[in-house]
Amino acid sequence: MKEFVDLCIKDPSLYTMENFMFFLHLTGLSVPEHHLQYRFDPEKPVENLINPHLRISSFEAAIRGFAKSDKSKHAITSVYTCEGIEDVCMASLYHFLKLGLAIKVCGNCGKYFVPLRRSDAMYCDRISPFNASKTCKEDGSQRAFEEKLKIDDAEKLRRQIYQAKQMRIRRNPHTFPVRSFSAWVTISQVISAA
Ligand SMILES: [Zn+2]
Repeated sequence: MKEFVDLCIKDPSLYTMENFMFFLHLTGLSVPEHHLQYRFDPEKPVENLINPHLRISSFEAAIRGFAKSDKSKHAITSVYTCEGIEDVCMASLYHFLKLGLAIKVCGNCGKYFVPLRRSDAMYCDRISPFNASKTCKEDGSQRAFEEKLKIDDAEKLRRQIYQAKQMRIRRNPHTFPVRSFSAWVTISQVISAA
């Protein structure tokens, strides 16, 4: 299962319901038993929404009342019957695929997460392992920014040294060892590309 998820993260074009079904076929696993359930708002008797003088049955009044009611407080819920952690993982993956939700690896803590608000999110909402007072989202972008500054500083320093060395060669073409300069250029380029 982890292998399938990791493969789909590496190549998101493989993250489809068809491929998941084929994965189940290959491994002999199955999606846990599930059904849809409508969660009703028990506070409001919907029959009261219908004119009580109408000559209709209480059943019809209930159906018509429900049709007229504010449905924002109701929710359709998928209920999965799971017997272990493997079932929970299988149900989760199936549910994410059904809803078109991606699975990603957090750029800060390295754990799996499902980006609910923005599909291009890079960090999860857990507490950062590097800073207990921040979430990965807050800490991750800050750390990436600082890391970039460090790299930029190193690149700036490398260029300064390069220019200084080049200047020395130009001023003293006979005394400065050109071969050691070429070697330094190669090494510094390899380091900055890493
Ligand atoms: Zn994280």
